Amino acid sequence: MVKVLSIFVLNLQYMFNKKTVYITLAFIFAIGLSSWGFLVHRTIHQIAIYSLPEPLQSYMHKEMNNLVSNATRPDIRRNTDKTEAPKHFIDLEAYGPNAANNMPLDWASASKKYSEDTLFKYGYVPYVIVNQLEKLTAAFRSKNKDSILFYAADLGHYIGDAHVPLHTSINYDGQLTGQKGLHSLWEAFVPELRIDQYQLYNAHQATYIKNPSEAIWIDIRKAAALVPEMLAIEKEVSIQFKPETKYKTQMRYGRETKVYTKEFAEAYANGLGPTVNAQLIASANMIADFWYTAWVNAGKPLLSTREISPNLSAELKSFKMNHLIQDELLLSKKEKPEN
Ligand SMILES: [Zn+2]
Repeated sequence: MVKVLSIFVLNLQYMFNKKTVYITLAFIFAIGLSSWGFLVHRTIHQIAIYSLPEPLQSYMHKEMNNLVSNATRPDIRRNTDKTEAPKHFIDLEAYGPNAANNMPLDWASASKKYSEDTLFKYGYVPYVIVNQLEKLTAAFRSKNKDSILFYAADLGHYIGDAHVPLHTSINYDGQLTGQKGLHSLWEAFVPELRIDQYQLYNAHQATYIKNPSEAIWIDIRKAAALVPEMLAIEKEVSIQFKPETKYKTQMRYGRETKVYTKEFAEAYANGLGPTVNAQLIASANMIADFWYTAWVNAGKPLLSTREISPNLSAELKSFKMNHLIQDELLLSKKEKPEN
């Protein structure tokens, strides 16, 4: 991701004057921060497969490499598609008081109430998820493997994003409360430090979702409810640190940037307790539910084969023991993320 961004910025420097470059850079930093890290996006796609029923499970498992490596594709697409960014978040505060409970559940009513321009500005991830579910359903109906994998990966990405608390807030990077950098600390730095200790297994079995809009809004509300706590914990943990132990400077995109130190990230991870792990699992469970729902709504098509995917039972065994990482079966840990 860093590489892609750097090339993009270099090109921009040739194309625009200095002022435009700084504005564009600010924009890129803003969008570059808005997603689970690559590690978590990839992890949740893998473990979502483990809670699907057969024959869907074997079908998706045979394509696991594709589903895992494309888990981050929508983030990369933001570099070239300017309509992409607001699909990944929703700035609830911009939609009036108690928006998490007051916003219409469906796109038609929401765009009537707020205008499409407003939704494109402040984000509309819950509506994107429902739209992607319909696309995946159509793909299952057509039995077109490329389409199925494309929409399953994209849908999973947006569901993942909707479970990151700061994706639901206008204070998306802690920038309004003097906590700039909090976004990637919570969603990338902390899970990268701690994933070896996470409980990746849970007994969830994919469940049919009767009302997908309602289901996604329930989880958006839960994610939004975590925002005050994650901001407060950062403040609390900061008391034990001096500015020079809390932050370090590092070169990013050719300029010095202030980032949290590893020591601070460890202390913050301790303060958060199991929250990040719980959101990771909630993301994976909902991805499994939505993939399964699309397949059921498409009439449970029998895809290419009914044979059990090779290695699946060994992986499921390891998953149930929470040994995926030590058994070197978690793909996101095997492939070095590009960022
Ligand atoms: Zn994203």
